[in-house]
Amino acid sequence: MSASALFPTYNRADIAFVRGEGSYLFAEDGKRYLDLGAGIAVNAFGHANPTLVAALTEQAGKLWHVSNLYTVPGQESLSKKLAENSFADVAFFTNSGAEAIELAIKTARRYQFVSGHPERFHIITFEGAFHGRTYGAVNATGNEKYLEGFGPKMEGFDHIPVEDIDALNKAVGPQTAAILIEPVQGEGGVHAVAPDFLRHLRKLCDEKGLLLILDEVQTGIGRTGKLFAHEWAGITPDIMTVAKGIGGGFPLGAVLATREAAKGMTAGTHGTTYGGNPLAMAVGNAALDLALAPGFLDHVNKAANYLHQQLGALVASHPGVFESVRGQGLMVGLKAKVANTDFIKAARANGLVVLPAGDNVVRLLPPLTITLEELREGIALLDKTASDMEMQKAAAQ
Ligand SMILES: *Cc1c(COP(=O)(O)O)cnc(C)c1O
Repeated sequence: MSASALFPTYNRADIAFVRGEGSYLFAEDGKRYLDLGAGIAVNAFGHANPTLVAALTEQAGKLWHVSNLYTVPGQESLSKKLAENSFADVAFFTNSGAEAIELAIKTARRYQFVSGHPERFHIITFEGAFHGRTYGAVNATGNEKYLEGFGPKMEGFDHIPVEDIDALNKAVGPQTAAILIEPVQGEGGVHAVAPDFLRHLRKLCDEKGLLLILDEVQTGIGRTGKLFAHEWAGITPDIMTVAKGIGGGFPLGAVLATREAAKGMTAGTHGTTYGGNPLAMAVGNAALDLALAPGFLDHVNKAANYLHQQLGALVASHPGVFESVRGQGLMVGLKAKVANTDFIKAARANGLVVLPAGDNVVRLLPPLTITLEELREGIALLDKTASDMEMQKAAAQ
């Protein structure tokens, strides 16, 4: 095989999926895999969802792109639907999660600027966070591994341990503009942030005139069993980023905000060529209708309860492989005692796709449309993989 002509920034598995159907993926060689990764929480409505395929192909025959110099009807309808079903008054559509994060940071800083506080531009972020790979987003993420060698660190991000009130009180100062946090840290290891801590952040922001930015790129659009994960804590943010599930596989992200929080974002302060294009809007509107359909979130919660119950039993029966179950809704982590990457490879050999996360976690992010029968199959494959690894371990001793 000749050397790849791609940047070697990914350690890619030697497998090419060529077709998907619901909760299953099919590789080049015809082998079928149960997909408990959903393209990292993206294919929330399953692969090749007929409703989304129809929305995309219908739009593809009409109009692909016009630019944001003109009214895009799909943006008007999708933003209204999002506003009606959330804390937000207004939305801006992007192509990715990182782009949404960039705009959230800009929106918070502009809010303080037009409120007479140009000195407030620092954003407090948390250890174990992940906010994306563009320059602002990766500085917000703060992970040294992702920052090394890319020039000076960007000014204005204060990185503190999560759920640490003392560190928080020390970090908040006259320079602080906003606090940015994922309600459930995804890439960092599937850590559901304590609801009390989220409520504390809301209170602190109100007291100090700061904005609360929630990164719901991974947790949003039903992933945790509510449309947005912050609903579990009974709070609302001022600004929220969404991506991944919102496009069901088509590149789409959004920043949602209250009209007050977005008051600095006047004409000319931000833009995008592709964001909110007619193709993305056709799919986004259809996807949100699916998520808002009666019974959809009930299904997610039912599936999640079943999954958590079964995983508890799985962990108990494989104490040499797993330590614990964590997460919320259909965003689940298995803290592993074997290397998570070894487990994931062994699972793939058994026809099961699962994902890694930080802190040596095996991450499960199934399509939200997954059936209980398919979850049962997934548990059996996890069980088989754990047994395979126990046997390997015993043989090596
Ligand atoms: C994936 C992710 C991002 C980055 O999204 P991209 O579309 O990859 O840029 C940001 N925040 C969170 C919480 C994510 O999970």
